[in-house]
Amino acid sequence: MKKTVSFSRDAANVFFHITTRCNLNCRHCYINTHQHGNETLPLDVVERWLNLFCQREGKANLVLLGGEPTLHPQLADIVKTARKLAYNSVTIDTNGYLFHDILSKVEPVDVDYISFSLDGATAATNDKIRGPGSFDTCLRGIRDACTAGFDVSVIFTVSRANIHELHLMGPLLQLLGVKRFFIQVIGIRGRSVTQRSDDLQVGKKEWIKIVPAEAERIARRGLTVTFPKVFLSANDTFECAGKVAQNYFIFPNGRVYRCPLCEDYPIHSLEIVQNRLVEKDPINEKDLFQLDIPEGCVMNKLIQPDNLSFSSDGTPEYRIACCLLKEEISPI
Ligand code: SF4
Ligand code: SF4
Repeated sequence: MKKTVSFSRDAANVFFHITTRCNLNCRHCYINTHQHGNETLPLDVVERWLNLFCQREGKANLVLLGGEPTLHPQLADIVKTARKLAYNSVTIDTNGYLFHDILSKVEPVDVDYISFSLDGATAATNDKIRGPGSFDTCLRGIRDACTAGFDVSVIFTVSRANIHELHLMGPLLQLLGVKRFFIQVIGIRGRSVTQRSDDLQVGKKEWIKIVPAEAERIARRGLTVTFPKVFLSANDTFECAGKVAQNYFIFPNGRVYRCPLCEDYPIHSLEIVQNRLVEKDPINEKDLFQLDIPEGCVMNKLIQPDNLSFSSDGTPEYRIACCLLKEEISPI
C-alpha cells in the first residue's frame, strides 16, 4: 500500500548530531564544519540534551547521527539512556564502519533500527561517491548487524551519479535481509555546494520516471520503502514542516534547526544555552517558513533553484514539496 506520510502534529522527530566528525569524505556530505564545528559532545551533555527534548516532546522518534555516530566512544551508553527515556524509537544512522565494536555493546532490544548509508549497488558506483572500500565495509556491517539480530534499514541518496543503479538495490537489499529502504533526494548543502549541482541533482522527468516505480518494485521484495515526494502535482497541498510539524535537527555547537535545508546558514530558530532550549531572535528560519510562494518550498528556491522550471509568462510549472514530505510503500 502506498501512502503519503503527512506531517504528524502528534509525533516529533529528534535528529541528534552527537558529533560532526567522520572517517569518510562523501561527495555530497551535508555536514558543514564552518557552521557546526568539529566537536564530539561529551556523554553528560548528550544525556542532558536527550532529557531536554524528551521532556519537551514526550514520545519523539530519536535518530542518533553525525558525522559518524559510532566514532563516539560512548554511543552504547547514549543509546541505553535514550531507551530509558520516553523516546518512541531509537535509530542509529551509520556509514557502516561501526567503530568501537558497537554491535557487541548494544542489544537488538536497545535500538529499533540501525540504518546504513549506501549510495550504490556496486563498489564502483558507491565508492566513487563515498570513498574507496566503503561499499565492502558497509555490506560487512549490514551482514554483521543482521546476524546479530538487529533490524536494519538502508539509506540511498539518489543523485545523477547513482540513479542508474537504483534498480539493482532491490535484489541486494533482499539478499542482505534489510527491512526498510529510505530513498533520499540530494540537498545542495554542505559539500554538495562546492560540486556542480547540475552534476548531482536529478531532474523532474527522470525522478518521476524512475524513483516511484523502483520504490514499488523494491517493496514487492518485502521491504517498506520510503521516498521523498519532491514534485507536487496540481492537486497536492503544499505544507511546510517548519510550520506544522515538530522536527529538531540538533548540532554539537547547540544550534537547533527546524528545517535541514537551512543548516548551511546561521538562521536556526532555537539554540541550547546552558541546558535550556531558547528561541532565537528574528530574522531566522521561522520567518522564512511563513513566506507563501508559488514555487512551494522557499528554501528550495533559495538554495537549489535549478530544480524549478517556469513557463514563458514566468509562472512556475510545478511546486517543490517540503523535503520532509515522504511517500511510504508497505511491503507488497
Ligand atoms: S555523508 Fe555521512 S558518512 Fe559521508 S562524510 Fe558526511 S557524515 Fe560522513
Ligand atoms: S524544506 Fe522547505 S517546506 Fe520543508 S521545512 Fe524547510 S523551508 Fe519548510
